[in-house]
Amino acid sequence: MEASATVKPADMRPPERVACCIAGGGPAGMMLGLLLARAGVDTLVLEKHKDFLRDFRGDTVHPSTLQVLDDLGLIDKLLALRHSQVDKVQLLTSRGLFTIGDFSRLRIKYPYIALVPQWDFLSMLADEAKRLPTFRLLMEAEAQRLVRESGGVTGLQYWADGQMRTIRTVLTVAADGRHSTLRDQAKLPIVENSPPMDVLWFSLPRAPSDFANIVFRAGGSKLIAFIDRFDYWQVGYIIPKGAAQQILAQGVDAVKQGLHELAPEFDDRLDTLESVDHIKLLTVQSNRLRRWWLPGFLCIGDAAHAMTPVGGVGINLAIQDGVAAANALWSPLTRQRIDDGSLAAVQRRRTWPTEMTQAMQALVQKRIIHAVLTSDGPVDVPPLLRFFLRLPLVRDFPARFVGVGVRPERPSPALLAARV
Ligand SMILES: Cc1cc2nc3c(=O)[nH]c(=O)nc-3n(C[C@H](O)[C@H](O)[C@H](O)COP(=O)(O)OP(=O)(O)OC[C@H]3O[C@@H](n4cnc5c(N)ncnc54)[C@H](O)[C@@H]3O)c2cc1C
Repeated sequence: MEASATVKPADMRPPERVACCIAGGGPAGMMLGLLLARAGVDTLVLEKHKDFLRDFRGDTVHPSTLQVLDDLGLIDKLLALRHSQVDKVQLLTSRGLFTIGDFSRLRIKYPYIALVPQWDFLSMLADEAKRLPTFRLLMEAEAQRLVRESGGVTGLQYWADGQMRTIRTVLTVAADGRHSTLRDQAKLPIVENSPPMDVLWFSLPRAPSDFANIVFRAGGSKLIAFIDRFDYWQVGYIIPKGAAQQILAQGVDAVKQGLHELAPEFDDRLDTLESVDHIKLLTVQSNRLRRWWLPGFLCIGDAAHAMTPVGGVGINLAIQDGVAAANALWSPLTRQRIDDGSLAAVQRRRTWPTEMTQAMQALVQKRIIHAVLTSDGPVDVPPLLRFFLRLPLVRDFPARFVGVGVRPERPSPALLAARV
């Protein structure tokens, strides 16, 4: 796997003041940064790593995000990146393949999930943004402290090039992910949920004759997702919360045995999984802030709400937050002003989609995932559910909920027209 464009700190002299400084160059921060800079807002994005290279950080670009990229004239660039397209999510039951969600049935412009390495996706956004005179990206720059004056946030301190620097801002945005430093600094109240599972991620080679799409296998207290990544399988081995240490202590053979039981046709390539060092643990979290903002400060993306992997919606919600924040804030930021009402409006707009999505994830976790992980026998889809998922009104719901989501955001016409 290759990393594409990286950005070096030498690309720029750090400014001392900007209209908007965004901590975190993930999907939320890069999308917001691109949109604000495009509309003429002087924007700085700080990213603590030296590149965007992350393995298994979630590579699902959903139809709603593809539509946003289309609106921005970036869809061809995205689709030119090496990717696979998934139009169905299926479960292999004792009675054969059962389709849980079929994106190809949706009447939308991009009826599929594009699986694009996240570093390529972020590098594409960064390359696009760097063409704008109003955009700056500082890599290896770690936001550490909020600057607070007169009851509001007026900037931040960050570590770069071996020294602590201070930048003054009209708006500081925490897009620094689920372990957000700035959110902790702001001491905003948070609601924690308790998902019942964690995920072990690893890859296996993919043969051209293999099945395609995203296919779940379930049975014997196990649930495994196989995600088609073109020339390899991204495998998600879903385990009960907290069980990772015990499973990994048994060595890689315990994981291979589980794979053998549910997917024996992969036996010929299990040797490629040499040790537990090839397995990455995702400790599944789910939470959301009660309040996303302080005067001069806003949290978006995982910093505002960590999502569980159910539906693979984390990236897309992060992007939607970025779009909603840009729609509401670009205009006041071009006037170097931001009031509390505009920040509260971003939270109001995005709270409902966040809560609805987390409620649906909790339902799937409780009714399906927990049930599978605690039942010894083979897994089948209950006849009543099979019946309902044949009804035209119900059938498309899972694909629409995952692919399009609740209240999908698009850049407003005013934002699109306000190009520098
Ligand atoms: C193992 C794993 C698998 C996942 N799989 C999926 C999936 O299949 N589909 C899906 O939709 N979602 C998935 N997710 C979730 C998804 O990655 C996140 O929901 C999404 O990336 C959130 O975007 P974000 O921009 O809010 O935060 P992040 O993507 O976490 O980006 C935050 C960025 O901020 C940087 N940063 C952190 N602290 C600082 C700091 N102090 N200063 C400067 N920079 C900082 C980080 O380096 C990072 O680049 C997965 C997550 C994990 C951990």
